[in-house]
Amino acid sequence: MLTYLDHAATTPMRPVAVEAMLPFFSERFANPSGSHRFARDARKAIDEARDQVAELAGVRPGEIVFTGCGTESDNAVVNGVSGNVVCPAVEHHAVLQPVEHRGGVVVGVDAAGHVDLDQLARALTPDVMLISVMAVNNEVGTVTDIAAVSKLVRSHAPQALLHTDAVQAASWLDLRGIAQHVDLMSLSAHKFGGPKGVGVLTVRDGVSLTPLMLGGGQERERRSGTHNVAGIVALAAALAETDAQREESSARIAALRDRLVDGLLAEVNDVIETVPRDRKVAGSAHMCFDGIESESLLFLLDEADVCASAASACASGAMEPSHVLDAMGVPRSRADGALRMTLGYTTTQADVDRAIDVVADGVTQLRRLFVG
Ligand code: PLP
Repeated sequence: MLTYLDHAATTPMRPVAVEAMLPFFSERFANPSGSHRFARDARKAIDEARDQVAELAGVRPGEIVFTGCGTESDNAVVNGVSGNVVCPAVEHHAVLQPVEHRGGVVVGVDAAGHVDLDQLARALTPDVMLISVMAVNNEVGTVTDIAAVSKLVRSHAPQALLHTDAVQAASWLDLRGIAQHVDLMSLSAHKFGGPKGVGVLTVRDGVSLTPLMLGGGQERERRSGTHNVAGIVALAAALAETDAQREESSARIAALRDRLVDGLLAEVNDVIETVPRDRKVAGSAHMCFDGIESESLLFLLDEADVCASAASACASGAMEPSHVLDAMGVPRSRADGALRMTLGYTTTQADVDRAIDVVADGVTQLRRLFVG
């Protein structure tokens, strides 16, 4: 039995999304940029998806740019502006690395991972043209008060654009409430039951970025490359279902998350919940177990078919010390025992109860080994 508690890494595809994409692999295969009837059919599917995503994301259809993934959306923003760029130290590497590469300013966060607004205010000098602050942190689940960040940015740096990486927000928060405060917003389909390899960047009317890719001029010259029609259509279907079920699903999953964390706090000594529950999204359970190494715990979980993670998953599969926990001031000894369990729309009580047993056993086993 597989117990999947790694929804922040990726989500299983929603059946409506699978169903929506299938015709575009067979009878509706056309390139939407063509000038014949088949092409118009594919173009119509994209137009409909664009209208739907725009409504769900709280922007206008013309403000939607379909991209190849969340990473592309983030890179397109950071590399698409001239002038200085600023972001907090807990951003996903898809923002942090291009910001660092451009010599931008990285500001600190508090113990819960919220951007330090005083430091941010000091960083907002007249040369700053972009501030990027994630809506929800992928590692510890912290929710940003994007309205407060926006207010600060608008008053201290009216010349600058505000971007949010909302890749981890879509499953849990109404995107309309986020989009109204920002100029640019990144999304990724595979984090809300859509396929991998398709994303969105919302770009407020009147905002112009230097495109990452030049070529066929698709997406009104903002993102060249033949459209991933199947992916785009499935992204819209997944987002529609996510939005329709969000409230009910969040309440159910928050209760399961509480059961998981409370269960582990009751079963295991010397463990902390990294971020208080009222600061983070419903699906996030991040804990630090003293006296063990995450890598060994993940090995035991893997043997028991429990899927979780430590620092954010990275392409090499290597365990890097978490830049997020480091920025939050979590001591290295504690961060070494970090475990990220992330729940989602398919999570059941049986998953949670099994995870409590397997994690508690694993921690006990490792501590005994270490002491013995
Ligand atoms: N931003 C955040 C917050 C993420 O969690 C991720 C994925 O882990 C990304 C960006 C990158 O998205 P993608 O996997 O679509 O490139």
